[in-house]
Amino acid sequence: MTARDDTNLSRREAIARGAMGALPLLGVPNVADAQPAQPPRARPPRTRDYIIDASAALVWRNGAPALIGDCSVRVRGNDIVEVREGRIGGSAARIDATGQLLLPGFISGHTHAASGSPTRGLIEEGRSYQRPIELVEQLSDDLLDDITAYNIAELLRSGCTSHVEMSLSLKQAQSYVRVARRWHVRGFPGGMVPGTARLFPIWRRTTDDALTASVPDTLAEIAANRAFALQVNGAEEGLIRPMLTPHAADTHTPETMRAIVAAAREVGNGIHTHLAQGVGELRAVQRLYGKSPAEWLESFGVFDGPFFGAHMTGATAAEWDVLKRHGGVYAHCPSGGGAGNSSGTQPYPEAIAAGVHVNVGIDTHSNDYLENLKLAVICGRARARLLNAQPNRTGTSLPMPSMRDAVYGATHVAADGLRRTDIGRIAVGAKADLCTIDVSGLLVGSGAVGPEPLSNLLYASGANVRHVITQGHVQCFDGQLVVDDQTRVMQRGAKAVQQIWAQLRAEGWFGK
Ligand SMILES: [Zn+2]
Repeated sequence: MTARDDTNLSRREAIARGAMGALPLLGVPNVADAQPAQPPRARPPRTRDYIIDASAALVWRNGAPALIGDCSVRVRGNDIVEVREGRIGGSAARIDATGQLLLPGFISGHTHAASGSPTRGLIEEGRSYQRPIELVEQLSDDLLDDITAYNIAELLRSGCTSHVEMSLSLKQAQSYVRVARRWHVRGFPGGMVPGTARLFPIWRRTTDDALTASVPDTLAEIAANRAFALQVNGAEEGLIRPMLTPHAADTHTPETMRAIVAAAREVGNGIHTHLAQGVGELRAVQRLYGKSPAEWLESFGVFDGPFFGAHMTGATAAEWDVLKRHGGVYAHCPSGGGAGNSSGTQPYPEAIAAGVHVNVGIDTHSNDYLENLKLAVICGRARARLLNAQPNRTGTSLPMPSMRDAVYGATHVAADGLRRTDIGRIAVGAKADLCTIDVSGLLVGSGAVGPEPLSNLLYASGANVRHVITQGHVQCFDGQLVVDDQTRVMQRGAKAVQQIWAQLRAEGWFGK
């Protein structure tokens, strides 16, 4: 702290410190009249030409991430143009990130953006998410956009700048792209095929006739998604890069999977799917095609481009081998099924042990990316400890996941999986996708940035994220959404969700 001459104290401070204790009380003005002048509130820079000054940063050095102390990063247009330990001089606009850790913007390898707020708080005691998400699909485009915006605002607010987004239908993918374009979000979106309106009778079928009968409509959905993907591919200076997003191996046939792969090759950004989600999927694919899900997908060339596979709760050794062989990414979603998911933890330690590229994904219900990083580490350690302690266990012990594993998975590992060496890292020439997190303040830090700030993230959440930037555009500044009116985004999101709650009440859903 700097020393100050008492003559400069405001009257109120002086009273508090007793410096004016000898004055008669009558002479003391009303405290409300004696408010010290507020320092001007910092504002986001007006152009994409500024310097971020952070107390710590994870920068890219000699082909690997390196944690350094005081660091300045200069952004110009879309790109990072200078990275320096210490401070960059000059009079450019500045973003103050004192006490904060500067990281590459997080990449979620699996989101369903419009399904978060409509299901959160309803499904944690065991109810199915099916009916709420069916009602989301029935909303008008305007109301759907309000829900999409609310959820994307949350993702941004928690530092998640890039979304490998499996919207639950083409309609929802279109909504995602409308909002993402407005706010400069980096999106890799696709409409899930089969979409949510057709999915459940195919997925939860009792005989495979339902799958066979679904082929013409599924092919039509693939064609519609392909057309939309080609139409918006590369929009907003390359921020929008659609992927093809088949629901899962057990809801497709050889004919529809061939159509997916052909469309994905044409669009050029890869495939994103649910993979080995459980025993049911493994049994169905084995019964139909005599292979494990990953092996079956591999036979069509699904892994030839970027590949993201979510959940993998039922993964076998074959699944890990296929992913490893092709550099596919496992999107581990620790809050899939809701925070505290009653169906159990997912094989995060096993994937790390297998040497697979592992990302942390949002899935559906929590859009707090930092919270999901924490859950990955904490649940992963609990899982590894329990499995390692099994009396009949053979082979080497499973590793304890660390925050470093989680953050690397959220940044350069995911970027490499997308075949994008220009994102997920803080380096000259990389896109300016960045976030800063308070790692020194109350509840998270120790009053100053400590020697291992990545570990402080275990005590942080999205609320501690301060500044969020994609391709140079400041989207959150000092913890507030600045690409839109945050209050209005919340009010509109609330109105749309309240309509769904009202319908659920009318159907007696809450009593079920
Ligand atoms: Zn999912």
